[in-house]
Amino acid sequence: MKWLNRNDDQSNYEDRRGSSGKKVAIGGIGTIVVFVIALLLNQDPQQLLNTVNQVIPSGGSEQIDETASKENEDLKVFSLGVFNSANDVWTKIFEEQLKKEYRNPTFVTFTDQTESGCGGASASSGPFYCPADEKVYIDLSFFHELANRFHAPGDLAMAYVTAHEVGHHIQKLLGYTDYMQNQRGQVSETEYNELSVRLELQADFYAGIWARHAEEMNIIQLEEGDIESAMNAANAVGDDNLQKQMQGYVVPESFTHGTSEQRMRWFNKGYNTGDIRKGNTFEVEQL
Ligand SMILES: [Zn+2]
Repeated sequence: MKWLNRNDDQSNYEDRRGSSGKKVAIGGIGTIVVFVIALLLNQDPQQLLNTVNQVIPSGGSEQIDETASKENEDLKVFSLGVFNSANDVWTKIFEEQLKKEYRNPTFVTFTDQTESGCGGASASSGPFYCPADEKVYIDLSFFHELANRFHAPGDLAMAYVTAHEVGHHIQKLLGYTDYMQNQRGQVSETEYNELSVRLELQADFYAGIWARHAEEMNIIQLEEGDIESAMNAANAVGDDNLQKQMQGYVVPESFTHGTSEQRMRWFNKGYNTGDIRKGNTFEVEQL
């Protein structure tokens, strides 16, 4: 996947990455000096500290941290680009196809754990969208898991993850999240799980819609193997695959995201049609 026009805007971005995200640090007296200088220059001390940290070279073990930090920064720039492009795509679709106004969510990167409007979150829970505060949360180290543990490397695989989470925001704006909330407690657990599968497959469909429109709007250019890499990611995070990996057997009634085959198919449908009306997973009989 190539960027033709990446939007690096930070106005909907919240950086909560901790020390493992930005490792090179000045401590003690150095910090105090920076703070005094910051006050003299009337600047944000944290910002100046970051600038100073970038300028002052470091050696030894910090070198490794710097490499990790650079890699983490690259992942941030990439994911933020995907996130912004998704907002651009959806603004257009809402305006042209739905005649509705789109509201941007916020993109939050964190390290290890953080607080959200939906409760505490840790890296192990994976990327998620919280409807209460309309924020997409991601610990960027997830992308290493995606590549290594789930064997799903590739740009479009990573982009699919972010686009899927923005898909949940679309569902909030279109009322699907409220619908799910109303159903909770009214239907059996098995039925609720089935609704949850429909919700997830729709988010996959929306991720496909994003890829198609981002391409048409000349934001990204897909290259050979890209669609396969996204498919591979959708395949890897299907409930059947995950259950097989975690417990060695598959329990379809407990599925909450859909099978690998379903996830790939709905992403593909979004990508191939580019038509938001084709994505009502709540109305189709056969998912
Ligand atoms: Zn999801």
